[in-house]
Amino acid sequence: MSDANSCLFYQSRTPRPFLDYGEGIYLFDETGKRYIDGSSGAMVSNIGHSNPRVLAKMKAQMDKATFGYRLHFRTHPSEDLAAKTVAMTPEGLDRVFFVSGGSEAVESAVKLARQYAVTQGQSSRHRVISRFPSYHGCTFGALDLTGYDPLREPFAPMLEGMPKVAAPATYLDRDDLSEEERGLKYAELLRDRILEEGPENVLAFLMEPVGGASTGALVAPDSYYGRVREICDEFGVLLIYDEVMTGAGRTGKFLAAEHWGITPDIVAMSKGFGAGYAPLGAIVASARLVEPVLDAGGFLHGFTYAGNPLACSAGLAVLEELEDQGLIGNAAKMGEVLMAGLRELMDRYPFIGDVRGKGLLTAFEFVSDRATLAPLPPSLDAHARLVELAYERGLIIYSRRTRGGTAGDHFLIAPPLIITEAQIGDIMAILRDALDAFAKEAGLPIAE
Ligand code: PMP
Repeated sequence: MSDANSCLFYQSRTPRPFLDYGEGIYLFDETGKRYIDGSSGAMVSNIGHSNPRVLAKMKAQMDKATFGYRLHFRTHPSEDLAAKTVAMTPEGLDRVFFVSGGSEAVESAVKLARQYAVTQGQSSRHRVISRFPSYHGCTFGALDLTGYDPLREPFAPMLEGMPKVAAPATYLDRDDLSEEERGLKYAELLRDRILEEGPENVLAFLMEPVGGASTGALVAPDSYYGRVREICDEFGVLLIYDEVMTGAGRTGKFLAAEHWGITPDIVAMSKGFGAGYAPLGAIVASARLVEPVLDAGGFLHGFTYAGNPLACSAGLAVLEELEDQGLIGNAAKMGEVLMAGLRELMDRYPFIGDVRGKGLLTAFEFVSDRATLAPLPPSLDAHARLVELAYERGLIIYSRRTRGGTAGDHFLIAPPLIITEAQIGDIMAILRDALDAFAKEAGLPIAE
């Protein structure tokens, strides 16, 4: 059923209430009902809702100027935000380009890579390899890089058909390899694909360091990350990390890349970067790439709203909150508490087959059989039903029905980075209640 109104065409199975206000990790609807924002919306609201310091800084900017076109004026918020972003990212990522969302960030990263290659006399490089499954956005370029068929199907004839390699959904693998060997095995798929495409044609490899919406917090074995970097370097292929979901502290480091000591050539960020206070995103790139492009006449790309002073004042205030409140460290700490809670759920619910994640980007996945990891029957509509049962009980979680090439129900738990241990306890209590109700409805066993 879709909500009956004329200005939106979002589909929702159940009518949604009108949002009234937000406060910290909570959202309140117009009837006064309170919801724990257990997924930070779509992994966006990293510093929680209605932070008064952020609002005050935005208001101060609003009173001065909300817009000044970037070709007409420099602005302090945009330059200060760029400097702060560079200071918070690892060395070697030293130039920032602003956008207003995740798809824009991904497209900007790819176009920068392409223009750089052209300046290097490598015009044949135009193929961008990404992974399956993956999500990189819904605009044409980003959609072509997205490995998720249901979203691509109607548009397939209009897409170039960029190459994909399997994302390392190693929890589904049934072989005798060690985790390290599995990571290397998946990295070799990239090498094989580069050779198949012809290295001279391959521009870049694009990956989410921790999978998001499409894979449910998929973390690769440690060995994967370094080997992918080596393979890219071997063939002069640029490495682009899509940190739209993982960036700005979500996984317990400012960039997820830092967990593995990787410096990508370009990083795309959005979601937590504006944290819901403004539509904002950025690419952060190595000066080695940017300088030749500027020398050759500039980046042939840019969005009207990009880098506007109001959005940048919000972004700057968000990064200041991350630092002042020590929220990135809290994400690492609370992530462990949350993961321990999710692992405990596995003792009670045999139909939870896997629990995974990094920092406060965590997920659990349903199976009908832990031995085979076969998914639950689609007729149970588990991914939608558990979300509804949690919502009724005042907890917002995020779900999808896709995994490693097969359909499986997974659920993301990714609360704001300000969350406390007691609040994680509240999430787990509601989640258990919702899981009990789901098991009862679906006729699935519970280990009491
Ligand atoms: N990349 C990733 C990893 C994402 O998770 C998303 C959004 N879910 C996007 C890109 C696209 O972002 P947006 O919806 O802001 O365009």
